[in-house]
Amino acid sequence: MRVAHRDPADGARRVVTRLLLATRNPKKLVELRRILSSFEVVGLDDVTHYPEVPETGATFADNALLKAREGFRRTALPTVADDSGIAVDALTGMPGVLSARWSGRHGDDEANLRLVLDQLADTPDERLGAAFHAAVAYVDEQGEIATSGVMLGRLVRSPKGANGFGYDPIFVPDGYSVTSAELPSEEKDAISHRGRALRALARRLAEER
Ligand code: IMP
Repeated sequence: MRVAHRDPADGARRVVTRLLLATRNPKKLVELRRILSSFEVVGLDDVTHYPEVPETGATFADNALLKAREGFRRTALPTVADDSGIAVDALTGMPGVLSARWSGRHGDDEANLRLVLDQLADTPDERLGAAFHAAVAYVDEQGEIATSGVMLGRLVRSPKGANGFGYDPIFVPDGYSVTSAELPSEEKDAISHRGRALRALARRLAEER
């Protein structure tokens, strides 16, 4: 949907495409608005309420697509959705799609992180490799676009840093000596799984829409 919009940079009226980001997470909205600055991005709190689709997919990509298809079906707005999580080598890729509810309580970051550390208590330090994964899906009347991003690194046993969320305090990205919770948000965006997946979507939209 194309809408008239006043550009905050110069006050001029421009016609832009309005996108729905199928999330209630304000941090994700801020991030997407930063990366897709040529679109007007609205969140689930800005559209008529509909029940969120359960994340029943076996992969990040399946879940992102489920949410993006539902957003487009319900609102008719071009819709972006993402799904992400951490895959720990010594846990054979888990928590994976269960990252947000690994401890049994959805969104309890502290309990999720503690459970992973407990599970790795006997794992030698050299086997603490891990990776954050993000899948992004976009659906509009012309079809679907899927992108993904990965951030490789390793886990540490003592949480450090106050930025970020989730498993950031125990994750040290490759090439860094601090956790992703110790990085400023712009620096994390530049290397993060979600930053990579969203920038890949921005490139595809610029080329294909
Ligand atoms: P969702 O994509 O909102 O479903 O989040 C999945 C879960 O993966 C989050 O609750 C976090 O536990 C974890 N996660 C995803 N991305 C990150 C990240 O950038 N930092 C830390 N944890 C993350």
